[in-house]
Amino acid sequence: MPTTRKTTPMRKKSPDRRGNSLLRVLAAACAVGLIVLVSVLMTGLLQPPNMDAIASMQAAMQGITPAPPTPEPTPSPEPTITPTPAVYAPFGAQYGFGGEELIPETPTPIPGQPTPTPTVAPTATTARTLKKGMSGSDVTRLQQALINLGYLSDAADGQFGANTQNAVIMFQAVNGLTADGLAGAQTQALLYGGSALSADEAPPMDFLLLVNRDLPLNQNYVPMDLVVIEDVLSDDIVKVKYKGTQANRTAVEALGQMLSAAIADGVDNFQISSAYRTYADQQQLVENSVADYQGRNPSWSRERCLSSTYQTVAPAGTSEHQTGLAFDITVPGVSFSGTEQQKWLHAHCADYGFVVRFTEEKQSITGFLAESWHFRYVGVEAAALMTRNNWCLEEYVEHMGS
Ligand SMILES: [Zn+2]
Repeated sequence: MPTTRKTTPMRKKSPDRRGNSLLRVLAAACAVGLIVLVSVLMTGLLQPPNMDAIASMQAAMQGITPAPPTPEPTPSPEPTITPTPAVYAPFGAQYGFGGEELIPETPTPIPGQPTPTPTVAPTATTARTLKKGMSGSDVTRLQQALINLGYLSDAADGQFGANTQNAVIMFQAVNGLTADGLAGAQTQALLYGGSALSADEAPPMDFLLLVNRDLPLNQNYVPMDLVVIEDVLSDDIVKVKYKGTQANRTAVEALGQMLSAAIADGVDNFQISSAYRTYADQQQLVENSVADYQGRNPSWSRERCLSSTYQTVAPAGTSEHQTGLAFDITVPGVSFSGTEQQKWLHAHCADYGFVVRFTEEKQSITGFLAESWHFRYVGVEAAALMTRNNWCLEEYVEHMGS
């Protein structure tokens, strides 16, 4: 940057002019200082200040070591967003499926927060959390306790397999713990503490348990006495579409009697498409259906896809498949409605303790469209009464109490 400087003519110094000379030196120093200051300010306007350099300069001026540059602030973790339970419009109201007439109630929002697990004070000998796939002497001890309380019938072999996991889930469900199949400190403390309920002391299975959109099950609800259907019924009685499908033992035995009677009448080729579904399974079904609707109708909003989904898929917690008492009985490869298998079952299922849970006539009460394939075990007496009075389960509970 061009600067001009006035040159001062040299003068001979003399003692009496000493004061003037001193003033001139000071004035020159001020001029130089002013130029430096202007330069710094102009530079500052053209580029951002280098704060580190300034700090170093200041430190050097003060004779101290500059503090290390302040590190970049660590970004705080993404805030956890708790989803607000959606409130859906009455099912199908906007799409001509019956809407408010069909289902007058706004559905109960999906139950939100998981039940907090009370913390257990750590002890000196904190045991590891035992889960499927583990082995060891602590697993053997766990299995022995489950056997003693009637939850496990296998031998205690020290291998944490599927049966041990089921036994832990059952133990937890009966004793009011989160039924996750993980034997952590709380589960072990109760299991070894001597105050746990045994399988015999468990409340009896309520075969009239009413589950619907207004009465959802807790996400930790696990039905009593689940069995793998194929372990109880042979392949010539019924095919199971998905291996390992479970249901309540009493209901499975009644199913076997019913299908055996149908076969004796010359009606066969039954398949179980679905039975017990966990809460998580239900959530997955909802998401699958939403994705399906979105794929076929790209302009649809998620809410519209959900609304259509809920015509036939229950919101998580509201499916009675979570009770282990419901079966979707189908015929492989064909639409079930109108088949001889459907007609036989509708005519005889009450004799074996089953009802056709969702009929067209009761849609406004049950909240679901008719499902000719969905059979619910309620026990022989209730099924007879419901059939005689033409009651759905909601009406039965209203008249009889559950
Ligand atoms: Zn079903």
